Amino acid sequence: MERSKIPVLDLTPEVEELWEDFQAAIARVLRSGQFILGPEVEAFEREVAEYLGVKHAIGVNSGTDALVLSLRALEIGPGDEVITTPFTFFATAEAIHLVGATPVYVDIDPESFNLDPKRIEEAITPRTRAILPVHLYGRPADMDAILAVARAYGLKVIEDTAQAFGAVVGGKKAGTLGDVGAFSFFPSKNLGAYGDGGLVVTDDDEVAERVRMLRAHGSRKKYFNEMIGYNSRLDALQAAILRVKLPHIDRWNAARRLVARRYNALLEGVPGIVIPDVQEGYVFHQYTIRVLGGKRDAVRRFLADRGIATMVYYPVPLHRLPVYSTPPGEFPEAERAASEVLSLPIWPKLPPAVLHEVAHAVREAVGSEE
Ligand SMILES: *Cc1c(COP(=O)(O)O)cnc(C)c1O
Repeated sequence: MERSKIPVLDLTPEVEELWEDFQAAIARVLRSGQFILGPEVEAFEREVAEYLGVKHAIGVNSGTDALVLSLRALEIGPGDEVITTPFTFFATAEAIHLVGATPVYVDIDPESFNLDPKRIEEAITPRTRAILPVHLYGRPADMDAILAVARAYGLKVIEDTAQAFGAVVGGKKAGTLGDVGAFSFFPSKNLGAYGDGGLVVTDDDEVAERVRMLRAHGSRKKYFNEMIGYNSRLDALQAAILRVKLPHIDRWNAARRLVARRYNALLEGVPGIVIPDVQEGYVFHQYTIRVLGGKRDAVRRFLADRGIATMVYYPVPLHRLPVYSTPPGEFPEAERAASEVLSLPIWPKLPPAVLHEVAHAVREAVGSEE
């Protein structure tokens, strides 16, 4: 395999674009002498809460911790079951295990790759406490249907919004429709820090208070610990960087949608390829096609030989990971997706010429172009 000349993601254009703002923000934090939480994090929490349209936003260490603290704040733990998707990053389920609860998988809707709300009801048991949908690839899950089931059975809803910062569902921001929303600021996410970071959002005052305590060793007041918590705080440098980036996120997400529309225009009707739906509220953390007929890996190799990097999110559905070693067949849609998905290069400033090169290489790989 030749070294890629077209990466799946290029984070440098936004660094260049906002270089002076980053320098000023970093200098401000260094001179403030306040490096963990403090005024910079508080300012970011206010700004991001306003952007998302939510009462409380609490900065934490990572998206994984955002999920763990959300579950703990909702008092979900040993003996409880949480319904989630088997087609996601492992952290979604890992967080459920880390609080001592059990993930119960429900297969995905093959069109959206998200948790299929029609299959939730049959997975509910007396132990079920919550539903944890993931807005995969930046496409919101079917929240109306999920919230309807949750309401009917008195379940909590925690949204894994790691891949969907700024996505919109029914006029509201993804992450603000359920009881709690968990976000990641891992550098490759749509709103990425330059290190680890995460966020919990909620309109519930008590849940917010518990998350604030949990991130600081279970204490409201320093050295007066009331519960067993974590050291999971957003640091001031990352908050300062996120404050520089936040005002640009809608423009960047719109640019990602434009990339998706352009790919679709070039790949529409190509035999053996399924292209994603594009809607105004989607934020295309990934642009993911299906390659049918067992040809995904061959197409991937063909592109790699042309110096085009691609990714497979995710090659193994969670229930098939070595950590569980469940036999195949239980969640057929998730398994089929894992064998067919291919994510093409996408970032807001992806040059149209590069996009054309990628799309034409895909057409060539499946034999629709000589
Ligand atoms: C990235 C991601 C996470 C974890 O976020 P980290 O900040 O890396 O801990 C959780 N869930 C999903 C769906 C993700 O994509």
